[in-house]
Amino acid sequence: MRTPFIAANWKMNGTRAEVADMVAGFKQGIDTKNCQVAVFAPYVFLPQLESSLADSGIAWGAQNSHMEASGAFTGEISLGMLKEFGCTHVLTGHSERRTLFGETDDVVAAKTKAALDTGVTPVLCIGETLEEREQGITGDVCRRQLKAVLDAVGVDGFRKLVVAYEPVWAIGTGKTASPEQAQDVHADLRQYLAEADAGMAAAVQIVYGGSMKAANAPDLLSQRDIDGGLVGGASLKVDEFVGICEAASR
Ligand code: PEP
Repeated sequence: MRTPFIAANWKMNGTRAEVADMVAGFKQGIDTKNCQVAVFAPYVFLPQLESSLADSGIAWGAQNSHMEASGAFTGEISLGMLKEFGCTHVLTGHSERRTLFGETDDVVAAKTKAALDTGVTPVLCIGETLEEREQGITGDVCRRQLKAVLDAVGVDGFRKLVVAYEPVWAIGTGKTASPEQAQDVHADLRQYLAEADAGMAAAVQIVYGGSMKAANAPDLLSQRDIDGGLVGGASLKVDEFVGICEAASR
């Protein structure tokens, strides 16, 4: 039985005051007894999350990190630094990092490995573009993205990470994959991972991301291989995010 995992990706949004309001709403509304919850915030708000989410049962993390521990990498943040601020999780391979910042499969694999080596849980994002879906190569693309990381971190690494399947055409567009479309891909990914190790594949959390809202979450989350959600836009609205966590807990 896999525990559901729901994560908020605030992207480059929020002010100190808005973060305080969202945290207060999350703490009041979310019950983490049957559902793991994490918030991925812009770096500058991590100290605020550390002081306001400590002991709440809600984890926090960054949306990106560098793979090196320290050095001449102006503007970058290391995983050790994130850990100092209580981050237990980090996103790797988000499609916005891949497409807007040129992160290749190899870079994503190196960042995912660095996170595991530092004891920070990576939420590894993969997914196809609309063009790739229309070409019928969704499975090939997602398997290629998974393979790059599997080659780098091995089966043991996959025992300690979360996979987020996020069709790029559904991110921030209001277009959600249908529960059946998402389930098909999740089942295919689990099957692919089972070729490496059946026990790991049965245990790994594979969450869905792409315009998830409180209204569509119950149908998506009731699919057999969908173990939670990575939520962008709707995670900036307390009621929406709380509603998604409630659906996951049920
Ligand atoms: C995301 O950024 O990971 C995401 C899924 O965004 P949205 O929910 O807004 O589509």
